[in-house]
Amino acid sequence: MNWGPTGTVNSMVTFDPESLTLAQCFGDACVVCHKKWPRPRVRVGRLPDESAVMACHDCAEALFPAQLATVLAFPTR
Ligand SMILES: [Zn+2]
Repeated sequence: MNWGPTGTVNSMVTFDPESLTLAQCFGDACVVCHKKWPRPRVRVGRLPDESAVMACHDCAEALFPAQLATVLAFPTR
């Protein structure tokens, strides 16, 4: 098994808070498109202080297409 110490996906990215707005640092705004509503729901990474970095679903898909595809692409026969 290859779980990280916190049990999250091992591709979790650490973002540089210097390049984010305050709202993005608090997880109140999407890290990609800055949208605050609807509230971003997908945790796409973290800050060096372990705060969650959030993105809306569409943006998360653009950030990690392969990862979400593994989860969603179940062949239905
Ligand atoms: Zn977004």
